[in-house]
Amino acid sequence: MARRALVAGNWKMNGSRDSNASLIHDIVLDVRKYPDIDVLVCPPAIYLESVGRQLEGSPVQLGGQNLCEQEKPGAFTGEIHGGMLRDVGCSHVIVGHSERRALYGEGDDRVAAKFRTAQICGLIPILCVGESLAERENGQTESVLARQLQAVLDRCGIEAFRRAVIAYEPVWAIGTGRTATPEQAQQAHAFLRDRLARSDAKIASSVRILYGGSVKAENAGALFGCPDVDGGLIGGASLKSVEFMAICAAA
Ligand code: PGA
Repeated sequence: MARRALVAGNWKMNGSRDSNASLIHDIVLDVRKYPDIDVLVCPPAIYLESVGRQLEGSPVQLGGQNLCEQEKPGAFTGEIHGGMLRDVGCSHVIVGHSERRALYGEGDDRVAAKFRTAQICGLIPILCVGESLAERENGQTESVLARQLQAVLDRCGIEAFRRAVIAYEPVWAIGTGRTATPEQAQQAHAFLRDRLARSDAKIASSVRILYGGSVKAENAGALFGCPDVDGGLIGGASLKSVEFMAICAAA
């Protein structure tokens, strides 16, 4: 099944009004060269509205980096409801990024709840999964991926993956300059797809699985060339327009 590639920029806690404006200016100018892929940017929440306004009329989509798991808005100081992300123009939201899991105590259950709330709010969740270095070295990569995926399957069911994206992001490759080899990425992606296929082969073959972790222009082509890699979730390299657009060119 032909899956359309998606290249998503995860800006993390970076940017300013000025730097965002110039980054988006360059991306919007260049993106029309790549009509066969989907391009998404995920700025910090405080900039979503201004970036969204600058993206109007362009095919570049807007995503949040996180949302509150609460299904209804209310007294949750400091949190952001999925409906608010929709309100400012987001189509997607990242859930379960390893930085949220490791630094903010988000466990599998909370991640699954966020995934569900995202869909209730009409957002497409980008579910991040991935093993740490110790887990890889102990031969636990597949059991970790299976556990992280199963938590969402248990709460939301296989049908939920009709409107979701998965990102395989080995923790040891995030922001480290150390990228998974294409073989390692392909193996993990095929494993994830196979787990979904146990429930529904058609949904498994249609879901997009992105690779993330030190993707750069120079390694993107080899990674995106793997049969089960459908694009990338790009951190550091999404902050430089030339690099980000070169990654789009490779997709
Ligand atoms: P990186 O981050 O590209 O800077 O490694 C990827 C991510 O965390 O999504």
